[in-house]
Amino acid sequence: MNIKEKFKNIELNKSLKGLTTFKVGGGSKYYLEILDIEELQSCVKYCNDNKIEFLVLGWASNVLISDNGFDGLIIKLKNQEIKIQDSFISVSAGTSLSNFLQFTLDNNFIGAEFLAGIPGTLGGAIYGNAGIPNKSISDILESALCVSKKGKILEIKKENCKFSYRNSIFKENKYIIYSAKIILDYGDTNISKELVKKSILERNLKQPIEYPSAGSFFKNVKITDELKNNLKDFDVSIFEKSGIIPAGFLIEKAQLKGFEVGGAKVSEKHANFLINYKNATAGDIYNLSKKVEEVIFEKYKIKLEPEVQLIGKF
Ligand SMILES: Cc1cc2nc3c(=O)[nH]c(=O)nc-3n(C[C@H](O)[C@H](O)[C@H](O)COP(=O)(O)OP(=O)(O)OC[C@H]3O[C@@H](n4cnc5c(N)ncnc54)[C@H](O)[C@@H]3O)c2cc1C
Repeated sequence: MNIKEKFKNIELNKSLKGLTTFKVGGGSKYYLEILDIEELQSCVKYCNDNKIEFLVLGWASNVLISDNGFDGLIIKLKNQEIKIQDSFISVSAGTSLSNFLQFTLDNNFIGAEFLAGIPGTLGGAIYGNAGIPNKSISDILESALCVSKKGKILEIKKENCKFSYRNSIFKENKYIIYSAKIILDYGDTNISKELVKKSILERNLKQPIEYPSAGSFFKNVKITDELKNNLKDFDVSIFEKSGIIPAGFLIEKAQLKGFEVGGAKVSEKHANFLINYKNATAGDIYNLSKKVEEVIFEKYKIKLEPEVQLIGKF
């Protein structure tokens, strides 16, 4: 059976540019919106049997899709259900973080305030263990229901999710998260609402949200003695407690703020944001990221790693 017969609502040659927060990139050979886990499982099995590459996209707020696009199937999870069940909240992976956060505030739950201002879906957040310096999605997760690369349905408890900084078992094994159980306490959401407001105001001041981007482009870097030695011209003592040096600090010290390649630029507001400044292509953004990596390595012998997922061929 061909793919069009198997999945009636499949779209061919779907443009992805408008779906991404970077507003760049080519299309995908196939694109399918999926509502339930059985269809997801059947889709994964079909792709395996027919050697079709597949990838799930959430809000596409942490990806850079090549100008040549993706030569396979992009899956989008349409289910956005949020339900309170006994001691946890059950949330579909396609739910936006902002809708989830609003739900928690409306239902007197506290502890999800750190998600304020992070675009994206719950699935994308769990995949990359999204968060802020002192809190990430792993802190509020109980378990995730997912489909393995081979099409098996698995429920993985938090302690087996191998969460670390911007990493998880889902990223390592390419599992597709379908839904998750979240645990939060009941409490005074008036304080939470104030925290959310404050954090959004701070983001608006510090981040170039007026330009398309994918948030912080590079991962922050673990402090080592060697690194401290390479950075001896700067006072890095303020970072000692957290044990990491923000990639943005290094990029700023290397005087790369405002550096441009084509229509892509290192933001002047936040050095770890590469922005689509003037009709950039994905190639411009990629080449800019390579230039930043090169300069940081030359100056400080540090190999920056992208936090943003590169999709397709660059
Ligand atoms: C302005 C701005 C600010 C940001 N601030 C932050 C921040 O403070 N902290 C932070 O951590 N991030 C931040 N980000 C990055 C981004 O919003 C998060 O990483 C978010 O969690 C990504 O979710 P998404 O649904 O957009 O994932 P996508 O970008 O769609 O996908 C990212 C990766 O996750 C995979 N994925 C998506 N859904 C699933 C699923 N259901 N199952 C398995 N894999 C999946 C994709 O295949 C891809 O590899 C920011 C981005 C922007 C644009």
